[in-house]
Amino acid sequence: MTPHPPSHPPRTAPLGDLPPDDDAPLDPRTAPVPRYGSGSLADLLPSIAAGLGVPGMTAGLPLTPADRACVFLVDGMGWEALRAHPDEAPFLTSLLPGSANGSGEPITSGFPSTTATSLASVGTGRVPGEHGLPGYTALDPATGQLMNQLRWQPWTDPYVWQPYPTVFQQAAAAGVSTCQVTAPHFEHTPLTKIALSGGTFLGRLSAEDRMDLAAERLAGSDRALVYTYYAELDGNGHRYGMDSDAWRGQLAYVDRLAQRLAEQLPPRSALYITADHGMVDIPEDTEARLDFDEDWELRAGVAQLGGEGRMRHVYAVPGAAGDVHTVWREVLAERAWVVTREEAVELGWFGPGVEPRVRGRIGDVLAAMRDDIAVVATRREPKESELIGMHGSVTAAEQLVPLLEVRT
Ligand SMILES: [Zn+2]
Repeated sequence: MTPHPPSHPPRTAPLGDLPPDDDAPLDPRTAPVPRYGSGSLADLLPSIAAGLGVPGMTAGLPLTPADRACVFLVDGMGWEALRAHPDEAPFLTSLLPGSANGSGEPITSGFPSTTATSLASVGTGRVPGEHGLPGYTALDPATGQLMNQLRWQPWTDPYVWQPYPTVFQQAAAAGVSTCQVTAPHFEHTPLTKIALSGGTFLGRLSAEDRMDLAAERLAGSDRALVYTYYAELDGNGHRYGMDSDAWRGQLAYVDRLAQRLAEQLPPRSALYITADHGMVDIPEDTEARLDFDEDWELRAGVAQLGGEGRMRHVYAVPGAAGDVHTVWREVLAERAWVVTREEAVELGWFGPGVEPRVRGRIGDVLAAMRDDIAVVATRREPKESELIGMHGSVTAAEQLVPLLEVRT
């Protein structure tokens, strides 16, 4: 079928205004690829666990072993944004390369740069092509429905969707005192079960209490692995944008939390402060926010729209994938990398390999934004479409996350 007329009106400035190639579609090979195997979130826990002597773990990151290791994951704290705010984050800034106590260079989140995908990469120590959480929403090929990977809606058996054990489970089985110190409401969620379970779950509402408890748990054993988490930097970035007092206030709070934890570390500990992804602010105008629900060209031949504003999984009706690819490339042109599923797999966006059970969850076409734009969907995703800060794509602002180290 032909889901769109053979020619459609120009979407960008007339050609005469620009050099001829400036609005040509981007070459997919120019998109940054996560550093799977040597510098991505999926490498973090296996590297730490290898240092703790957990069998079967490979150290992709050059971390010095410690008897007690703690990961503090700050949702949405991108490397670039952190570096741009030394006044709000004096403690974290003191840990950046080039400063007195400076440690590591950034690592990459993984693809897409979104929480569900990243937490699964962290917890399983596997790339998205293996753990199989390929975005914020993704198609369940068994039902033909979109599934929200963060809220796990509609429900599907989590252990079928993500069958691998977590690194926490493997560490606990190897005799390492293992726990997660996070918000109480995460205890029984499917995402926690398949990404972050193993050892003891400790829910605390207060973030200060989490820091204190994390330090206490580290001190309580000679061989410990502790994970702790803070969500609200991301939440405020989404609601108010990173260029807001609310976001800057949250960053200052995160800085105090990290220092509070660092100052309580017992001897022979390593604290790693990292994040699941960064963020970009999307201007509030229709040029920057292309509305899928109001755009007949983008909708033509599309059965389901997955992912999120910064990275779309586009699932085509049977036979239309080629046309959808062509139209999305033309519409987004130089503003996004628009690739086929085969290209994304071959270029390694989801890791060196994508397992057969995961393949059908990936869009027939993927659109990863390069510029500060988003493909929103004001009718099917009214809440998400109103967000100011967004993430999901492969830009440095979204992909690069800190890996800061404090040692005792
Ligand atoms: Zn987020």
